[in-house]
Order: sequence, then structure tokens, then C-alpha cells
Amino acid sequence: MNEPIKLLQQYINEANNIVFFGGAGVSTESGLPDYRSAEGVYTTMENENIDPKKLMSKRFMMEKPEVFFSHRFQAETPLKPKPNAAHQYLAALEKSGKSIQIITQNVDGLHYKAGSTNVVELHGNHRRFYCMTCGTEYAYETIHRDEQNIPRCPLDNGIVRADVILFGENLKPENLVKSKQLISAADLLIIAGTSLTVNPAKNLINQFKGNKVVVINKSALEMNLTADLFIKDAVGTTFSQLTI
Ligand SMILES: [Zn+2]
Repeated sequence: MNEPIKLLQQYINEANNIVFFGGAGVSTESGLPDYRSAEGVYTTMENENIDPKKLMSKRFMMEKPEVFFSHRFQAETPLKPKPNAAHQYLAALEKSGKSIQIITQNVDGLHYKAGSTNVVELHGNHRRFYCMTCGTEYAYETIHRDEQNIPRCPLDNGIVRADVILFGENLKPENLVKSKQLISAADLLIIAGTSLTVNPAKNLINQFKGNKVVVINKSALEMNLTADLFIKDAVGTTFSQLTI
């Protein structure tokens, strides 16, 4: 165990109340692309002269649902990624009785899949679907699509969409309130796989009043934050070296 990992292990062992704040980098080792790196989802779209802010917006979904749902990033394709060492470690830590709360910007549901139960999914979950007209929930496998490939509710023909936050939509207030409470009550904050480029992530992080801040990310943060420990490495690789 090298020094930074030893220190992280010590912080975790000593903490009473951990918050893990994760971004896209937590899932890249599960084979999911991030958004802003060279192979990122947004970068790929921009290379194809598509503006992700336009295509992945609620407005576009309502105006041109046949195009919205035909795009490969909007087709809600059920990827079958597996939790990696980071998801697994956090789930095992919770199981061991440690107070650990996860706040994630990812929509892949991998923390639940790994077995964590204390999870706030800030941007929703792309495996949950609901009818925009009547609210009925659908499992991906049972979704009926019309001749234009638009997912439709058999009850009222409403559009069935993923429960994720699109551009032009606000995060759910209850998730923001809960995240603020969790972060302000934590004594160890681990920020992983995110550069904290966008709000409200920055605002949430500023709620921290605890003891230690650890950042695990391949690049520096885009906010002014003094970390007690900065591990410039992949998130799964880092957690694979820890013990419960
Ligand atoms: Zn419906």
C-alpha cells in the first residue's frame, strides 16, 4: 500500500460519517463513457456537429420525439455494465456497518446494483421509465414503441421517458436538500471521478464542514478547494487497494 492509499484507508477507518460524491469517472472502469473526455458522450456528439445541450433537452424530446428517441444516446439502450471495485467497496463498507452515504451524478444505477442502499441519484436513473401523462412506471424490457420508435404508454399513448434529468430540467429539490444535509453532516468527504465543473455540484460541496476532504480524480478540480488528500488516479483502481 503506497502512502496516499494508506492515508485514505486511515481516513476511512477513523471517519464516523462518510459522504462519497461521485461523477462519471466512477463508472468509466465499468465501461461507460464519461461526458467531457476525448471519448466522452458530449465530445463524440460535438464531433458529429450535434449540440448535446440541444439534443439532450426536454424541449427537443417534446418537439421531435422521433429524432430524440432514435439517437443512440437517447435510445435508452440498456447497457449492461457491471459495478467495478469502487462500487463494490462502497457497498461492502455500508454492509460492514459504516455510515456511508453516496451522492452520484451518474444515471447508471451501479451503486444500487453493487448493493449500496444509501444513494442519492442527483441526475436520476436511466433504468427507470415512466409515462409523462399518467406517471405509470415501466421496466425497460416491457416498453412498447410505436412505428416511429417512440416509447409509448399502452394506457394513454403518453411518451414513456427515462427518469433522468435532461438539459432544461432542474434537479429534484428533495435530492438537493437531502444532499446538502448529508454533506453538512459528514466528517469525511470523498469526491471522486468528477472535476466539479458544473453547479449545483460546487454548491453542494461547499456545504461541507467536516474534518477531511479527499479527491480521487484523473485531473484537477475546476473549483477552488483545498483537499487533505488528492489521488490522481482512476477511482476503481484506487478503491481496489483498500480493505474494509
Ligand atoms: Zn400513461
